[in-house]
Amino acid sequence: MINKDVFRDISYGMYLVSTKDEKNVGCITNTLIQITSENPIIAISLNKNNETNRVITNTNKFAVSVLSEDTDQEIIKTFGYSSSRDINKFENIEYEEINNLPVIVKNVSSYLICDVINKIDCNTHDLFIGQVKETVKVSNNSPMTYKYYHEVRKGTSPKNAPTFQEVKHEDAYRCTICGYIYDNAKEEVRFEDLPDDWKCPTCGVGKDMFEKITN
Ligand code: FE
Repeated sequence: MINKDVFRDISYGMYLVSTKDEKNVGCITNTLIQITSENPIIAISLNKNNETNRVITNTNKFAVSVLSEDTDQEIIKTFGYSSSRDINKFENIEYEEINNLPVIVKNVSSYLICDVINKIDCNTHDLFIGQVKETVKVSNNSPMTYKYYHEVRKGTSPKNAPTFQEVKHEDAYRCTICGYIYDNAKEEVRFEDLPDDWKCPTCGVGKDMFEKITN
């Protein structure tokens, strides 16, 4: 038996993975681990449908920005809940070109530059094993943990995330873009009574992009 609550006990951070071929692409992942410390190697997991996965597979290079507790929600919104196939995520975001990669360096804790040394097929996702070439400590701001993202930022996992979980609610609405749940039982104002210009706090879309949860 698999009790999915157990996976909630696993700790994660929040990372922005970026790379480029003809265009800059990037996405948010929480699944990054350090594998070795001597001659450091890390691993990241990315959904196979993800544009960033496709480009890293071609270029064998990626950067990772370690998001911090003061990382702008706009960055999480842009990189976490839309596809690089549809928009240029870097268009309105400040970044620097480092080692020919687009890297978010503002309001993050640090960043790493990696070369892919292996890619492992894991069903819906690929695990990219990266040899770390360079690391830079940007600030002493606390790195954002996944727990902080969920509890303080009220963040959610989109369906592509390795940690996505269906949650059961009696009287609630779900954002069809980012998965944010508006639970009438926990809010002072019912969803139906929110003003028309109300926006999803996680990804910024309007009420019309929400669906009633039917269990
Ligand atoms: Fe949303």
